[in-house]
Amino acid sequence: MFASVFFGAALLATEPNQETRRWWSHVQALANDGMEGRDTGSEGYRDAAGYVARQFEQNGLKPAGDQGYAQTVPLHVVRLRGDRSTAVLTRDGRSKTLQWLRHISVQPNTAVPRSIDAELVFVGSGNYATAVDVRGKIVVQMNPARIEGAQAAVLSTAPSGAVGLLGIDSPDGLEPPRWPAQYAVAMSLRGQSAATASALTLRFNPADAEMLFEGSGHTYKDLLNLFRQGRPLPSFPLTVQLRATLAIEEENIQSDNLIAIRPGSDPALAGEYVVVSAHLDGYGIGEPWNGDNIYNGAFDDAAYVATLIETAERLQQSNAKLRRSIVFAVFTGEEKGLLGSRYFTQHLTVPRNQVVGNINLDQVRPLFPLKRLTMIARDESTLGDAVRRVAEPMGIQVLADQEPWRNLIRRADNWNFMQIGVPATGFVLTPEKGTPDEAIYKEWYARRYHTPLDDLKQPWDPSAAAKFNDFFLRLLEAIANANERPQWKSGSAYAK
Ligand SMILES: [Zn+2]
Repeated sequence: MFASVFFGAALLATEPNQETRRWWSHVQALANDGMEGRDTGSEGYRDAAGYVARQFEQNGLKPAGDQGYAQTVPLHVVRLRGDRSTAVLTRDGRSKTLQWLRHISVQPNTAVPRSIDAELVFVGSGNYATAVDVRGKIVVQMNPARIEGAQAAVLSTAPSGAVGLLGIDSPDGLEPPRWPAQYAVAMSLRGQSAATASALTLRFNPADAEMLFEGSGHTYKDLLNLFRQGRPLPSFPLTVQLRATLAIEEENIQSDNLIAIRPGSDPALAGEYVVVSAHLDGYGIGEPWNGDNIYNGAFDDAAYVATLIETAERLQQSNAKLRRSIVFAVFTGEEKGLLGSRYFTQHLTVPRNQVVGNINLDQVRPLFPLKRLTMIARDESTLGDAVRRVAEPMGIQVLADQEPWRNLIRRADNWNFMQIGVPATGFVLTPEKGTPDEAIYKEWYARRYHTPLDDLKQPWDPSAAAKFNDFFLRLLEAIANANERPQWKSGSAYAK
């Protein structure tokens, strides 16, 4: 059963070794269709959490949550019910019905108006200081492929007097926005609702954007070409009205982080904790993608929860004595805005001053042979030195983030540890430029990232998985056994 499922699943470049087969069996247990994509708060997530807790127990880890391994995270959900909402574009008395999540979507929040009836006006890309009158209108803009730094706030804030903002997603960029949208859900830690810049922020599918411009004297195609060339875009009223009703639901839910400890062996250092983490939640069930509506999240992020389980198992089998204690942290709510890790770092179950570092595993992706690893925040702390000392003898080159504009440093659970002053990092397998590996890397983002295609049927490289899991175990041993705890480098912006 195991072997046939395994070998039938993917084209494998090399035969996986025994540890890698065991690791993959955990990936299968967490990312199979029965887990329904492990959406935060869902039954599938609870089943997956039960699996993780049983594995932690079997591998001799001590419970370190609030109730056993579980640390319950209280959450608030705001959700657009696409099936009970309507949207119509009207031009010269003629109407075109839009489908929520397929043509148009919304950033849900409690202040979203439940009905909309407004004209549209095109303003280019965030250049609101234009001659066109935006009062009482929905401002339509082109969202860029890369949104950098302060631009994000500008591009999500409607100019004053406008009813709201409608951004046409860019069809370009490494991580193209997903259409159909998985769903329109916003979650927050209960009592900490995220402040939204504008009450009404809409998104539009670029594949359907031409319909917004009909009769305006402009076409989306021409405007997109101008935009791609970096040329200025005109502003002009669109001759179309958007009428919509939005069914917004709100709910309090809860979902568990799983926290476990492997006690250290050195009386002087066992009171210090190295946190290793990965997120268990995925996107769950969403709009179908070629007929498949389960967003399995195999490499985002079940595979690295599996790495944590596999690491615990190997440490137990070898009966390794690690001087410091290790916290195994499996987080919920990552895909909803790093919520589980924020809750954990705000409600630590071990003393804050004794948390010495965090290694977070998110989207490492063993898709091609492991020769280069990008290390998040490589030069911010002595973790970078520890990583190089372990990686280089293994033939792994350690790179600083090559794509800082993607803000990877803020987009995974390592960020919340950095926010409380704990040196933290994460890794991404990185291809060499111009190689077939780079094509695989890009193709994964283009096709599988946050879609139902990130599942157990995708190809992967057993040698890369084996090498990464070995590297991770050696790194953990090195950090846990070092005389000095990890420190921020002097001058790091994160040093407090
Ligand atoms: Zn993700």
